[in-house]
Amino acid sequence: MFLFIPLLFGCPTKIKPDGTEQSAHLCPRCNNASVFAAKSRTWFEFFFIPLIPLSTKHIWLCGICNWAAPLGPGHWEPPIAYQTPQNFGYDGLQAGYQPSYDQPPNRK
Ligand SMILES: [Zn+2]
Repeated sequence: MFLFIPLLFGCPTKIKPDGTEQSAHLCPRCNNASVFAAKSRTWFEFFFIPLIPLSTKHIWLCGICNWAAPLGPGHWEPPIAYQTPQNFGYDGLQAGYQPSYDQPPNRK
């Protein structure tokens, strides 16, 4: 009987934070300052081993509601929520719910 052979190949998309863009951006969907630049790469995977990178995209990704949009020249860009570096405490804030009215007013 070969009815229940598990699917051992696929094309999963792995999303990693992109180091080039560090500031948090405002999410147009949930209004949280949780949108970051990310790299979305689709792999051809066999037996859970990524073998062939099929495509790489730079995207905006919201960590709360999973909103995503293409990133790059010519694309719309979500507004920056924090204009750090002086706001070092912000790493702790991003862990939980973050109401949009809680942001510092010093944006550019
Ligand atoms: Zn969002």
